[in-house]
Amino acid sequence: MAEPIPGAIRALLRPSAAKLEPYDPAFTPSRINLSANENTYGLPPEVHRKLAQALAEVPTNRYPDPLSGDLRAAIASWHGVDPSQVCVGNGGDELLFNLFLAFGGSGHVMVNVPPTFTVYRLYAELLETRVVDVPRDPVTYEVDVDALVDAARGANLVVVTSPNNPTGNLMPVDAVARLCQACPGVVLADEAYMEFAEPADSAEPLLATYDNLVVLHTFSKAYCLAGVRVGYVLSSPGVIGALAAVRQPYSVSVLDQAAGLVLAGEREALAPTIATIKAERARLSRGLAALPGVTAWPSAANFVLVRLSQAHQARETLRDDYSILVRDFSQAPGLTDCLRITVGTPQENDAVVDALGQILEGSRA
Ligand SMILES: *Cc1c(COP(=O)(O)O)cnc(C)c1O
Repeated sequence: MAEPIPGAIRALLRPSAAKLEPYDPAFTPSRINLSANENTYGLPPEVHRKLAQALAEVPTNRYPDPLSGDLRAAIASWHGVDPSQVCVGNGGDELLFNLFLAFGGSGHVMVNVPPTFTVYRLYAELLETRVVDVPRDPVTYEVDVDALVDAARGANLVVVTSPNNPTGNLMPVDAVARLCQACPGVVLADEAYMEFAEPADSAEPLLATYDNLVVLHTFSKAYCLAGVRVGYVLSSPGVIGALAAVRQPYSVSVLDQAAGLVLAGEREALAPTIATIKAERARLSRGLAALPGVTAWPSAANFVLVRLSQAHQARETLRDDYSILVRDFSQAPGLTDCLRITVGTPQENDAVVDALGQILEGSRA
């Protein structure tokens, strides 16, 4: 946990930051960590060897290529777009920040679809952007597309997440198309988890039609590089230019770029792990839904959202008695008594289902 901010320092902060607290990932070293939607399988050994080799050969005395030229070209050919349509960042989070830096600001409006990734609201508010919420259905978490399209007409920035974190459901591609038509500003489709869905679920083909669409991807989830920090967006050259104008030129280090390049070339080698995670997602969901009093929402991502009574207590018992870490949303708006559980290895998934079963059994006795 970071240091608290004393009042005397708080008084000096920019007003939009004055209420913030340092980010707390609520991390406790645990035997099994299913809290952050990482790929818990790790890299296949042969890919890890190639990565180690590539990193060992990188000269570190020169500044990195600001536009990550080699990685940008590799990503462009992977996605069938021009390199001018790619911007690489220090994780997807940096690109989100840059998007709000470029298109948000005082007098500008961001349309948000909660419950969703809380970073959007955080960055929007920090950068003095007004946030208009179009809440999801409180039971199914489906989006009211008509209401969203209406709100988009007055927005500088609309953010939709597909699959959504933490609810796991998809945003239909035709809804993204309607948003791109209605919104005078930019529409971000955050596809950080799209590798775990089906190719037809991606909004990427719309890039050919809509210059205001931005599609965000990351190497952090499916591609095992959460610790390295590499993400990218695909958009029109104009939007990419705007991002390139506001970003810190050297935020993606030579090591980040080299690692991203290795993984971009090893996608085939990761495919079996991704297929296993998708199969395990179905098995984990069934196991969780079979527990007494547990609701599990369908998920197209590498995590499952569940609701159970006394979720906060159950999460603490999982951590303290079983050394299993999951993410607590039980006090978050719209997510009462919800936990988010990352799909892990078969052993990890069995362990969390067994432990939760024991906890729920105990609380009924
Ligand atoms: C994890 C995540 C990201 C980006 O993560 P990085 O590690 O910064 O690349 C973006 N959006 C959502 C919804 C995420 O869950």
